[in-house]
Amino acid sequence: MSVLRAIFCFFYEILFGCSHSHLTRIFTLQEETYRVCLDCGVHLPYSSDTMRPLRARELRRLKAARAGELKILPSALSSPALQAVERKSGAA
Ligand SMILES: [Zn+2]
Repeated sequence: MSVLRAIFCFFYEILFGCSHSHLTRIFTLQEETYRVCLDCGVHLPYSSDTMRPLRARELRRLKAARAGELKILPSALSSPALQAVERKSGAA
């Protein structure tokens, strides 16, 4: 069900957008600084220098510089809620 939900969220975001009102605080994981929306799970990249949201162009440059070095996995977050969801979908 989590896959269907992810797909639903994906299209929901395209159609309606997410207000991203439930965000984690800014944190840095694997040398990447971002916040995560607790509603749709999207990563909102931030600059660790300015602590402001990264523009798409800045993000591309950043990713190009680190190409192949890191993978962005939602499960890399040690969020109990996310782990619970994954455990549930795995058991079913
Ligand atoms: Zn969101």
